[in-house]
Amino acid sequence: MRRLALASVFVAGACLVHVGAEDLTTFALIAVAVGCGWAGSAWRHDWKLWRLSQRLEIISGEGQEIAIADRLAENANGLEQALATIERRLIERHGVSGLPTREPLLEQMEQDGSGVLGTFALDDFERLAGFDPDLAERVLLEIVGRIVRMIPAERLIAHVDQAHFAIWYGKDIDPLLARSEIDAIAYALGGRVQIGPREILPSIATRCAALVDGVTPQLLLTRTLASFALDDLAETHELSDQAIAQVQHRYAMEQDLRGAIARNEFQLFFQPLIDANWQCVTGAEALIRWNHPERGSVPPSLFIPIVEASGLAEEVGLWVLNAAARQASEWEGGTAGPLRIAINVSASQLHDAKFAEVLSRTLHNHSLDPACLEIELTEGVASTDDAALARLFGKIRALGVKIAIDDFGTGYSSFSTLRQLTFDKIKIDREFVTDVHRRPQSQAICQSIIALGRGLDIRVLAEGVETTEEYRWLVQHGCRHFQGYYFSRPLSAVDFLAFINDRASLTALLQSSIPVPQIERITS
Ligand code: C2E
Ligand code: MG
Ligand code: MG
Repeated sequence: MRRLALASVFVAGACLVHVGAEDLTTFALIAVAVGCGWAGSAWRHDWKLWRLSQRLEIISGEGQEIAIADRLAENANGLEQALATIERRLIERHGVSGLPTREPLLEQMEQDGSGVLGTFALDDFERLAGFDPDLAERVLLEIVGRIVRMIPAERLIAHVDQAHFAIWYGKDIDPLLARSEIDAIAYALGGRVQIGPREILPSIATRCAALVDGVTPQLLLTRTLASFALDDLAETHELSDQAIAQVQHRYAMEQDLRGAIARNEFQLFFQPLIDANWQCVTGAEALIRWNHPERGSVPPSLFIPIVEASGLAEEVGLWVLNAAARQASEWEGGTAGPLRIAINVSASQLHDAKFAEVLSRTLHNHSLDPACLEIELTEGVASTDDAALARLFGKIRALGVKIAIDDFGTGYSSFSTLRQLTFDKIKIDREFVTDVHRRPQSQAICQSIIALGRGLDIRVLAEGVETTEEYRWLVQHGCRHFQGYYFSRPLSAVDFLAFINDRASLTALLQSSIPVPQIERITS
């Protein structure tokens, strides 16, 4: 029987070699478990053993916990009881940081009844993890280390979500003291983190909320975590009613968005892209519209940030890609001739290692010429100096799909982004196009971007052209590609085709801006 038990241990060791191999105490604990007859039942419930081993692996990171577990295993009346205690301990400890999880935090809040909750979020964790999960985890652990070093030992700090930490100040702690401690921690967490040769400047968001009558600890924590998704609440603050209403609204939108694809509520609109030299429409930017059954047409500026924050970006992005490819392929075979459709791609889509394959498969499925597709990325998405991103760009361009940089000039690193990555088109942001004919600063920016495009042999398009004056100034200063309400608003597919076919109107628009020659006064 004992031989059989030992053999089982080896089987367990082989299946989960990383569990016990380098940690004799853990290994011994599994042996005790098996030796006590638990293996018999574990073998019948394979999953349970697996789960036990996973738990033990986490324990092995903390010597003290193992010692407790060990003692329990030896002394407890039955191993089941010991395992239940171990399991409970592990539910209460976060697997990455080893900090208490939200359960003990909520318990303590419940017990105290009132107090102040300080919460910190490492904002760029997800983005960082997309490119380098190992680095993201090390930054997270550095942040944990900083918090732990700064707070008195008696404070309860919990790892409440992937990159969110909360500190609880019970009712006996002066709220002002709590507030100043939270402020100090927020300040310290923003300091530079050095991981090997890499320097990271963490972006930390902070919330400070009071537990008062009528709000349960669970609700307070949920609201606080949800509020991090709100862009406009960046600084430390109390959660106001307005903020809570915003969180609720956002939550409702998120719920609706989850079913929007299945309910066929998304639609693509197409805004014409104009080539002033060829005097024609060369393609369209595909812009998503959400036809909400109650809210009506919701603009992307309101729902795309929620799509991105709630992990729906890939699903929605895939829908856009397919809908655009289907439309482009239809146009390719029709009378309009080949037109290039540009789609907006978000950061999380790009962080998917399979993005190039997805593009390739979509082109194949719709039998679409790759030259008919362009992807638009904003500088924020593209500005990371990551080798993986450069490789992805290589793959996309090798497919024959074009890449444009959108909203150019609005960020801090526009020009350095161009040095690191290769683009086929630069889209000057509307901010510099609006009133360009009478704003010297915008003129300087537009002129330098146009010159840069010429120098690098990259197409330059002016976005958001609304007036003849703007268009005229840009044409006169060498800009050739245009998009904006001056030519057309985004249109449904049917209206877009009608726009293309109405060549006379477009010609009139293009020519109405040719400057009228000044007649010199002849003086005799
Ligand atoms: P964007 O990519 O820079 O798109 C241009 C936006 O400017 C569009 O707004 C367009 O309707 C608007 N626009 C174009 N010409 C003019 C003009 O002359 N005057 C003014 N005032 N506005 C003009 P829209 O459709 O509301 O989209 C806003 C943003 O939402 C887009 O900015 C893009 O960043 C994002 N977006 C739109 N569709 C998608 C999508 O399918 N996926 C993703 N990830 N983002 C999208
Ligand atoms: Mg765009
Ligand atoms: Mg843009």
